[in-house]
Amino acid sequence: MGRAFVYVIVGGGVVAGYAAHEFVKRGVSHGELCIISEESVAPYERPALSKGYLLPEDPARLPSFHCCVGSNEENLTPKWYKEHGIELILGTQVKSADVRRNTLLTATGETISYKILIVATGARPLKLEEFGVSGSDAANVCYLRDLADADRLVNVMQSCSGGNAVVIGGGYIGMECAASLVINKLNATMVFPEAHCMARLFTPKIASYYEEFYKSKGVKFIKGTVLTSFDFNTDGKVTAVNLRDGSKLPADMVVVGIGIRPNTSLFEGQLTLEKGGIKVNGRMQSSNSSIYAVGDVAAFPVKIVGETRRLEHVDCARKSARHAVAAIMEPEKTGEFDYLPFFYSRVFTLSWQFYGDNIGEVFHFGDFSGKTFGAYWIHNGHLVGSFLEGGTKEQYEAIAQASRLKPAIEDLTELKRQGLGFALSV
Ligand code: FAD
Ligand code: NDP
Repeated sequence: MGRAFVYVIVGGGVVAGYAAHEFVKRGVSHGELCIISEESVAPYERPALSKGYLLPEDPARLPSFHCCVGSNEENLTPKWYKEHGIELILGTQVKSADVRRNTLLTATGETISYKILIVATGARPLKLEEFGVSGSDAANVCYLRDLADADRLVNVMQSCSGGNAVVIGGGYIGMECAASLVINKLNATMVFPEAHCMARLFTPKIASYYEEFYKSKGVKFIKGTVLTSFDFNTDGKVTAVNLRDGSKLPADMVVVGIGIRPNTSLFEGQLTLEKGGIKVNGRMQSSNSSIYAVGDVAAFPVKIVGETRRLEHVDCARKSARHAVAAIMEPEKTGEFDYLPFFYSRVFTLSWQFYGDNIGEVFHFGDFSGKTFGAYWIHNGHLVGSFLEGGTKEQYEAIAQASRLKPAIEDLTELKRQGLGFALSV
C-alpha cells in the first residue's frame, strides 16, 4: 500500500513550515506536496518552547505560534495546509528510506514515494547517558526539544514551585531555561564544564555581564565541573545531583541542555555526511540530486566564512528552507545560498543578536554597566562578526550589514573610539 507525491518533506518542524509556505507562494498544485512528521501538530516556531511557552502567566500556546509567525507572516494552521491541498501526515515516524527507489517507509507500514525529497528531520537532544550518567528517564529530569518535552517541563516546574532546580549545560537551553525557572519561582543553579556561560560564542567579558545579571535574579553558577551521578528516592525521582568536584546539590527537578545530534540515521550509508549532518551544495542539494536537506540536519557551504558548516538556528532553518524550494521549483533562476549567520536570544529583559563569525581579535564597545554594549571580531584586517545587546532595530540592522560587508579595519583605535557608531556608518 502506498501513495505518491511530487514533493515530500520528512520532518514537520520549522523547515517544513517555511518550505510549505514557499511551495505555495511558488504555485505548488493541490496534491503535489506531503509533509510527514513524528510530531502530532502542524509545524510551529520551536523557539517559543524555551521562551513564551514557559511563562507562568499568559503563556504562548498553539495555535498562536505555528510557522510562519516568527517572521511576521501568516500563521499556518492545519486548515491552511488543507486549503492548499498539502497532505499533512502527523504523528507518524519515517522508519526507513530507500534513496534508489525514491521511497520512504512509515511506522504505520505505508510506503510513500517522491520525485523530490526534502530532509528536515532536525536534531535530538544529547542524553546524559552518552556521558556515562544514567537517570534521563526519571520523572523530574527534563530535556527540551518538542512540544511534549515543553508540556512535561511546565508540569514538573509547576509541581516544584519554590523548590530547587539544577540546570545542566551553559548553552542556549541552559540559559533560557534557567531564566524561565526563576521566573516560575524556583531556585535555579546552573552547572557546566566551561569557565563561563555560552562559551562557544560569548567572550569572558560578555558572559560576565549575563552571569551577573542572572545572579541578580537569583540564579547560581557552578562552573568548571560536570555531574557524575544522581541520587534517587524510592519513586525513582532524582533528589540530588552529584558533581565531579565532590559536591552534592539537592534537586527537586533537573533540566538538561548539553547539545544536540542531527537526525541523519535514515540516510546514513546512502547520502554523503559531513560535520555530523547531511552534506549539501549551495542549492541545499545532497549527494543524491533528488534529495535536499535543510535546517539543523544540513551541512552547507557558508559562503561568507568559506566553509561548510551546520548551523542550529531558526533564521538559517527558515531561509535555507525557502532557498531549497526556490532551487527545486525555479532552478534556472536560483543561485547559491549566500547566508549571513545570525544567532539571537531573549531572556528576562535582555535581548542580544550576533551576526557573522566569531573568530580573530575581539573589540568590545559600549557601556557594560548599562543597557547597550557589544563587540566586533576582526580577522585578517576585516570586521567579520558583531554582537550587540540591547540594540534598536536600526542598530541591529547596522551590525548585520557591517558583518555582511566585512569592511577593512585600518585603525583599531578609531574602531574602538567609534564603537557602535562604526557599524552605523558603514
Ligand atoms: P526541527 O524544527 O527540530 O524539526 C524537525 C522535525 O522532524 C520534528 O518535527 C521532528 O519530530 C521531525 N522528525 C525527525 N525525525 C523524523 C522521522 N524519522 N520521521 C518523521 N518526522 C521526524 N534558534 C534560534 O535561532 N533562536 C532561538 O531562540 C531558538 N530557540 C530554540 C528553543 C528550543 C527549545 C529549541 C529546541 C531550539 C531553538 N532554536 C532556536 C533552534 C531552532 O528551533 C532550530 O534551529 C530549528 O527548529 C531547526 O529547524 P528544523 O526544521 O531543521 O528542525
Ligand atoms: P548548546 O550546544 O548551545 O550548549 C550545550 C552546552 O552544554 C555547552 O555549553 C556544552 O559545553 C555543555 N555541555 C556539554 N556536555 C556537558 C556535560 N556533560 N555536562 C554539562 N554541560 C555539558 O546546546 P543546547 O542543549 O543548549 O541547545 C540545543 C539546541 O537548541 C542547539 O541547537 C541550540 O542552538 C538550540 N537553541 C537555540 C536557542 C537560541 O538560538 N536562542 C535557544 C534554545 C535552544 P561545550 O561547549 O564544552 O560542549
